[in-house]
Amino acid sequence: MRTSRLLNKTLFDDPSDAETNSHRLLARGGFIRKIAAGVYSYSPMMWRTLRKISQIVREEMDAAGGQELMLPIIQPIELWEESGRADAYLKAGIMFHLKDRRGGEMCLGPTHEEVITDLVRNTIDSYKQLPVTAYQIQNKYRDEFRPRFGLMRGREFIMKDAYSFDIDELGLDASYQAMRAAYVKIFARCGLQFVIVEADSGAIGGAASEEFMVTADTGEDALLTCPACGYGANVERATSVLAAGEAGGEPREMHLDETPGITSVEMLTSFCKRPASRMVKTVLFEATFADEVKVVAVLIRGDQDVNDVKVLNALGALDIAVAGDETVVRVTGAKPGFAGPVGLEGVTLLADESVQGMTNFLCGANRTDHHLLDVNFGRDVDLPPVHDLRAGQPGDTCARCGEGRLGGLRGIEVGHVFKLGTKYSEAMKASFTTKDGKAAPFVMGCYGIGVSRIAAASVEQNHDDKGIVWPVPLAPYEVVIVPMKMDDDTVVQAAEKLYVDLRKAGIEAVLDDRPGRPGPKLKDSELVGYPFRVICGRSLAEGNVEVERRSEGEKQLLPLGDAAGWLTQAVQEGRAGMATSPAATR
Ligand code: ATP
Ligand code: MG
Repeated sequence: MRTSRLLNKTLFDDPSDAETNSHRLLARGGFIRKIAAGVYSYSPMMWRTLRKISQIVREEMDAAGGQELMLPIIQPIELWEESGRADAYLKAGIMFHLKDRRGGEMCLGPTHEEVITDLVRNTIDSYKQLPVTAYQIQNKYRDEFRPRFGLMRGREFIMKDAYSFDIDELGLDASYQAMRAAYVKIFARCGLQFVIVEADSGAIGGAASEEFMVTADTGEDALLTCPACGYGANVERATSVLAAGEAGGEPREMHLDETPGITSVEMLTSFCKRPASRMVKTVLFEATFADEVKVVAVLIRGDQDVNDVKVLNALGALDIAVAGDETVVRVTGAKPGFAGPVGLEGVTLLADESVQGMTNFLCGANRTDHHLLDVNFGRDVDLPPVHDLRAGQPGDTCARCGEGRLGGLRGIEVGHVFKLGTKYSEAMKASFTTKDGKAAPFVMGCYGIGVSRIAAASVEQNHDDKGIVWPVPLAPYEVVIVPMKMDDDTVVQAAEKLYVDLRKAGIEAVLDDRPGRPGPKLKDSELVGYPFRVICGRSLAEGNVEVERRSEGEKQLLPLGDAAGWLTQAVQEGRAGMATSPAATR
């Protein structure tokens, strides 16, 4: 490709809404252009990278026995009513929902469990046709609450979604492991540093589920990992050993205390001279269900925090949010900061495991500027249903090995593997005939990869202050040739020859043939992030060109006649993946 012909334009300034390096650099490099929040045009350069990612995914899916197909993006809502997910997706507002000219309700596919289950129930009759794993690579549509970070959280984005169908749990386990192993290869071939963590199953439902997380400070997910045993989990799911709190002693009489303006655990600790582990915090949420919104109060030990995803799951709610001040005042009759379980009515109460066994604790009195002391469960207030609702914290002891201290890190979710079981096949009456001639529901798994998100995650991990540093397997082009003087025949001819030789050798090269000064060309080549750069300039007087690896920045002089050979070998090594080995936790 000649830069003069390339449909691309680099920008001098960062876009005003760019908060992350990948968003900033992909926009400035001309890879993406926003047309609406979370909706982007991919330039030819971006599309080359996205096709390379898709191709890696495709090769590994095929090698693992997957069959590629293509399902419709437009889906009838009836299918979602059959599976029982229509309410959750519509209420959460995540679904792009539309009506056709006959009034039929449709949606743009946010995911495809329903459609594939429908296809399979109409295609497979017998256990003899199983197992089957099918996948597709296509646009998905989700009206995200906060589209942001460029390709990281789009409303239109490219996903690879695969679905497996087996006769039983054993079969599902084999299909799941095959996909998991393929994912490890895919992310390693993309040159990403990642960890595999236990995940919450979310709205899709099902049992086992793991996420592939690219480690990056800008990641939206908080993770906990154990250096001793390798346990890793999303905080939405993580468990840890609860540190012992101070004992409360034999029950004493409950009494009311004045605590003027003392609204937080920290303030109470010094005001009442009690450690936070002797307090019960009451955290109010508003939980949305299909037909109502309920106020929910969660009790947790004062030195611990609630994880809202765990609360959502315990309630089986569609959505959850911390209650606003108005709601707090309405249900407690007091200003925020004084909520407590005693006498709290019209509210669903849940308790975290951390409050079990506590005696003589302090809690809010549902009266402004007052707290209750020496409160005891059973006598002053019933212990509500107990669940694990606690957010694990870095520094907690690992619950799996009981030894390691959990470390915190942030991750970008690039892949997710789920064991769905029979949730969808039962709801949608998708069954096959077993060996004994009986009908049994398919045992399913589903497996997603964020293809466009991988591009952003790669840039998060591979950039410097000058621009993107693409790993060879994902680079839009592998080599850029920069002639320093377009009016010097020796320079131009050398550059042209190299360009032809590289292309003959099957190397993806760009010749920056634009007229003008070399400065902007050099800057652009760094911003765009080509893995190799060849400078044809002054050193041609001695018959040499300057060759540079973007990731290292060190220049070396090579005779013009050797350059194509050297570059071909270096690029081929890069394609084969000097790829970083995965930092997978298990
Ligand atoms: P998240 O928790 O980030 O919202 P999710 O768990 O809802 O993602 P899945 O349903 O598991 O997403 O989708 C499979 C994969 O698709 C994810 O692992 C992620 O890589 C990608 N993905 C999901 N939502 C988006 C989005 N809005 N933009 C880009 N990629 C996405
Ligand atoms: Mg997910």
